[in-house]
Amino acid sequence: MSLAYGRDILSIPGPSMIPDRVLQAMHRPAPNIYEGDLIELTARIKTDLQAVARTKGEAIIYIANGHGGWEAALSNVVNRGDKLLALSTGRFTKGWIEIAKPLGAIVEELDFGTNAAIDPQRVEDALKADTSHDIRAVITVQTDTASSVKNDIAALRQALDAAGHPALLMVDCIACLACDEYHMDDWGVDVTVSACQKGLMTPPGLAFNHISEKAWEARQRCTQTTGYWDWTMRRTPDVYYMNFYGTAPTHHLFGLGTALDMILREEGLPNTWSRHNTHARAVWAAIDAWGKDGPMACNVPVKAARSAAVTTVSTGDHDADALRAWCQQQAGLTLGINLGLAELGAARQKGMFRIGHMGHLSPPMILGTLATIDAGLKALNIPHGGGALDAAAHEIAKATAP
Ligand SMILES: *Cc1c(COP(=O)(O)O)cnc(C)c1O
Repeated sequence: MSLAYGRDILSIPGPSMIPDRVLQAMHRPAPNIYEGDLIELTARIKTDLQAVARTKGEAIIYIANGHGGWEAALSNVVNRGDKLLALSTGRFTKGWIEIAKPLGAIVEELDFGTNAAIDPQRVEDALKADTSHDIRAVITVQTDTASSVKNDIAALRQALDAAGHPALLMVDCIACLACDEYHMDDWGVDVTVSACQKGLMTPPGLAFNHISEKAWEARQRCTQTTGYWDWTMRRTPDVYYMNFYGTAPTHHLFGLGTALDMILREEGLPNTWSRHNTHARAVWAAIDAWGKDGPMACNVPVKAARSAAVTTVSTGDHDADALRAWCQQQAGLTLGINLGLAELGAARQKGMFRIGHMGHLSPPMILGTLATIDAGLKALNIPHGGGALDAAAHEIAKATAP
């Protein structure tokens, strides 16, 4: 028997739940791509994208997923033989490194493990050791979607400054733009890479590069940039289609325009950040309660190093895949898989899953997700403490009390 006959809920860390209004905005006939509304909408989206990353730097739009955003960013600043310093806190910087290598970058990786944030002192030391300033850029993620570690980007900027190193600071915010607080200009970030399908609540298909003045200068010394990824024409297009180096992603723009309206004009970005915080705290409170009598725990012990967009949960020796399957089949709830945090074949391999809590999410959605997991733990006899829903409700109440 299955009970999954209501609306399905997707609690994975991207793509995220798409608001009905975003879907409805996309459900319309093909528009004029030479003049009129679409041209104005595109200009507004570019300004809104700057607002959402808190920057005066241009927002460049690609028809691509996050991997495309990664390649775009590096293609504009890396020459064959250039050095990069890559800071890993899970899987996703490692993914970016795989994009960097075929471009000819020589990558030095500092690995901070899978459940703790970057240690800025180690970064400062590595940069100080590079006395000839060969390192062109420091690349990392704000939120690592596999480990759910959130890095302190302002502290990273301070490490670069303390070392007196001129490298670009390039940050992947794909998981957490409009979820975790982010201030590109105040934190001195040179390139922000993001995409539309997570915090920005739009179907996968658009990637973004936000670029600082310093990044634009770095583009000038790059000699191997290929046409499609080149920032140059897209930054100051002389005709509309050069925004996209080809046909505009018409319906994605309609959807994204509505999503940005919802975030910036209706909710307000600081409220969006704090809603994500509240929902994250509700998730952590539930996991803490489960963990009081059983193996469940948040993967990241230090709260300040946890993302507000996604939580990686350890189930110890118990089979998280069975729990996910139960939630899917019996309840219509999709949870995130363990993304390569354990060695293949290790006991822990099946001992992790992820709860996405990014984007279009309200208390009944997140409390429903937690209650469903609670039911799954009971159905599968996975040991867990009681009071998880009470603890989660308490966090929501605390954040909204008059
Ligand atoms: C999702 C994600 C990516 C990859 O995005 P795709 O759209 O799957 O290519 C890269 N980095 C982070 C931090 C992500 O969360």
